[in-house]
Amino acid sequence: MKKTKYIFVTGGVTSSLGKGIIASSLAKLLQGRGFSVANQKLDPYINVDPGTLNPYEHGECYVTEDGAETDLDLGHYERFSGTPTSQANNVTTGRIYQSVINKERKGEYLGSTVQVVPHITDEIKRCIQLLGHTGKYDFVITEIGGVVGDIESLPFIEAIRQLKWELGVDCVNIHLTLVPFLSAAQELKTKPTQHSVKELQEQGVQPDIIVCRCEKHLTESIKAKIALFCNVAKTAVIECIDAPSIYDVPMLMMAEGLDKEVFRILNMEMPKDIHIEQWQNFLHHLHNPKKDVTVALVGKYVELTDAYKSIREALIHGGVANETKVRIKTIHSETITRENAAELLAGVSGILVAPGFGSRGVEGKINAIEYARTNNVPFLGICLGMQCSVIEFARNVLGLKDANSREMDMDTKNPVIDIMSEQKTIVNMGHTMRLGAYPCHLAADSKLAAMYGTQEISERHRHRYEFNNSYMSEFEKHGVKMAGINPTTQLVEAVEYTNHPWFIGVQYHPEYKSTVANPHPLFVGFVKAMLKYQEENKK
Ligand code: GLN
Repeated sequence: MKKTKYIFVTGGVTSSLGKGIIASSLAKLLQGRGFSVANQKLDPYINVDPGTLNPYEHGECYVTEDGAETDLDLGHYERFSGTPTSQANNVTTGRIYQSVINKERKGEYLGSTVQVVPHITDEIKRCIQLLGHTGKYDFVITEIGGVVGDIESLPFIEAIRQLKWELGVDCVNIHLTLVPFLSAAQELKTKPTQHSVKELQEQGVQPDIIVCRCEKHLTESIKAKIALFCNVAKTAVIECIDAPSIYDVPMLMMAEGLDKEVFRILNMEMPKDIHIEQWQNFLHHLHNPKKDVTVALVGKYVELTDAYKSIREALIHGGVANETKVRIKTIHSETITRENAAELLAGVSGILVAPGFGSRGVEGKINAIEYARTNNVPFLGICLGMQCSVIEFARNVLGLKDANSREMDMDTKNPVIDIMSEQKTIVNMGHTMRLGAYPCHLAADSKLAAMYGTQEISERHRHRYEFNNSYMSEFEKHGVKMAGINPTTQLVEAVEYTNHPWFIGVQYHPEYKSTVANPHPLFVGFVKAMLKYQEENKK
């Protein structure tokens, strides 16, 4: 049973400073020094989970093994540390209130008035310590979403104030702020940081470490000034300069001594050795690619870099494994017609059609897929991308002109993608899809089995609709291999086209499981296929 230390990461000045990357980087360093670490994210919004939020609001919804729909920072946690996360790693205000209100309805508060302090703050503290109480982790790093000073985050800051008071030396508070460079004055400015720390102090929390996001190096005098006005040791003012890649940040944090400061504050001896050779090796290949290749990413949210976060990262991982830089050409699915597909997709060596919901942009995805199929361009369809490939094949090869998914057309005569029977009676939208990890059996002679190196796999899902098995033999007769089948439900989880060099559609989301240490075999294989296509089409 481990005695867990708790590290809190709060943010100041603005959002999007990269708290998730700092938390993930610290986890990586602590892991490298031999400790077990869990990352957790607390989100101060009232949605019970981000599953009902659209990508404009919230970027990608990341799905864990146990089927929790979570914040995309959990994706960073897994990609950096390789440790699977779960529902316990992401808690929102909505979830906290839901559980307090449920307890109140059961009479568990024995007639007392239920209040933000202590009932909501107690529930927050319980959720923070849930991971620590498993006894599995030396460190739990908890990131508080939003910015200090937000009305929504007050109960969370109060909860960490209380925990620090209760746990004493077993806690570290890290505050991430912005130190802007004003070009007119040619100066870095510390005032926003000072104000942000004052705000925290007013709420009873003294940061132990201040991480300063900046685009120019902090001078010694700037560091001294921040230390003095914010009441921290000068060594605890850590520069976090803009980096070429998020994967550079652990090394930058090590050079700045972030991990060293954590050990100093916890009165722990820092193990001298750090094992992050594999990470450094990854960085070497990331920054010194031998080849490059361009993939078209087709989706309806391509203008938002966060919407397909895990796919973008998995392509980087797959690229590094092939010593290749993968360039992404984003194409908005609504713009693709049968007529302009060749022009829009010219020059790419692979086409990836993204997941999605609803009918907007679906016909454009189908047009891109027809181009990939008829021009032998390597194709990877994920979830809705796979469903669209089934529709395209049904319409253009099987001659079922009105084929569709029931999601797009309730009354289609040929629902080649249909709603699962257990989904038909569901009215609530939140957490009611097929979610989380399911087993899948791969056909022995499939490309997928060769890539994974095994026939038994488990992948994560997030969808309501499925391939309609009553059309299976018709597809098979025309060269569609049912490459992956769920062994218990017989649902089709993956298709491959036998008359195409590399055409794969998966109902599951491989991108969620790709990490720096274990690039996903399907993305490694996709990049390999693109390189082959590029080589062959040079001639
Ligand atoms: N909208 C589709 C479904 O619900 C696909 C979902 C997805 O791409 N994640 O089945």
